[in-house]
Amino acid sequence: MVNSAAPISFRTTPHPAPVPGATRAEAIADPGFGTIFTDHMVVIEYTAGKGWHDATVGPRQPIPLDPAAAVLHYAQEIFEGLKAYRLADGGMALFRPTENAARFNRSAQRLAMPTLPQDLFVEAIRQLVAVDKDWFPSVEGGSLYIRPFMFASEAFLGVRPARQFKFVVIASPVGNYFKSGAPAVSIWISSDYARAAPGGTGAAKCGGNYAASLVPQAEAIARGHDQVVFLDAAEHKWVEELGGMNLFFVMDDGQVVTPPLTGTILPGITRDSLLQLLRDEGRAVSEEPYSVQQWQDDARSGRLVECFACGTAAVVTAVGNVAGEDTEFTIGSGQAGPLTNHLRAQLTGIQRGEQPDPHSWILRL
Ligand code: PMP
Repeated sequence: MVNSAAPISFRTTPHPAPVPGATRAEAIADPGFGTIFTDHMVVIEYTAGKGWHDATVGPRQPIPLDPAAAVLHYAQEIFEGLKAYRLADGGMALFRPTENAARFNRSAQRLAMPTLPQDLFVEAIRQLVAVDKDWFPSVEGGSLYIRPFMFASEAFLGVRPARQFKFVVIASPVGNYFKSGAPAVSIWISSDYARAAPGGTGAAKCGGNYAASLVPQAEAIARGHDQVVFLDAAEHKWVEELGGMNLFFVMDDGQVVTPPLTGTILPGITRDSLLQLLRDEGRAVSEEPYSVQQWQDDARSGRLVECFACGTAAVVTAVGNVAGEDTEFTIGSGQAGPLTNHLRAQLTGIQRGEQPDPHSWILRL
């Protein structure tokens, strides 16, 4: 699809908006997750034949949309999620944003949408953080969650790729993803639902995947668990991932296992970073299928000593208990183990500029 080659410049209209029900100081002291938004948003328009145009940084406000807009009917929509971190020296930084840009473009290709130059993706985030930096949470461990997304805005009811899109970036001050800041989560194995099938959109970050995960996630909550874990759709045998996090398994001989990227799980940037950190430390890591039966057997025999989930929002979070229709088991002590804690500290240390950054993952804003 056409991409505009000409450099694009942003028109900025600053507009500090009041926060309903709370002052900004109150909001950023206890932001929760994903309910409070900053004053501004970036919008860049796309028109087939013309490419990307009209980049603006303006007030965050409702987006006018024709009721026939393709996104409302056929879900032609993708998104990304990353955070701006406060560095130890007071500066701000993004963590591997070009990886998000690259994944965004892979999602775009899968959903028949135009790609966005990676520099433009990063520059849009830079512009938004620059105008909304006062929204940075004051709470310990807080960050500014950045949500870039793109959707088909063309009014057309035929089923074909749209010719008009909007790329938008909004931001939200966030604290901890899990309300309790839980040291270990409990997860439910979904046997009635699958998240993604071979040849489907599991590796793309498209809204439809998340719509399909809501019922199984609600089922997990109703059964008293924090998260749902999905198995492969074909055999219902292999562990894939959680609704918004990848999974790792740590064995008693130090070996670390994570499911491979075969097209049905999201290639997490946290996953990739942890694999790299583990390899840097000389650990044996393998990306190979791990069955739910093996998971249960290894937990019961004590071979599996730790299990953790990882993602931008939840960082590195221990999995303590697992249950399904006909199984229930605890991993290790049911609490976060030493490798889980070590990786979490190492990753957040790099993200906050408190540790060396050997792979140049930090992009200072
Ligand atoms: N899996 C799914 C389904 C997700 O939504 C996410 C969050 N983007 C992840 C894994 C973790 O990805 P990342 O580490 O890039 O946040």
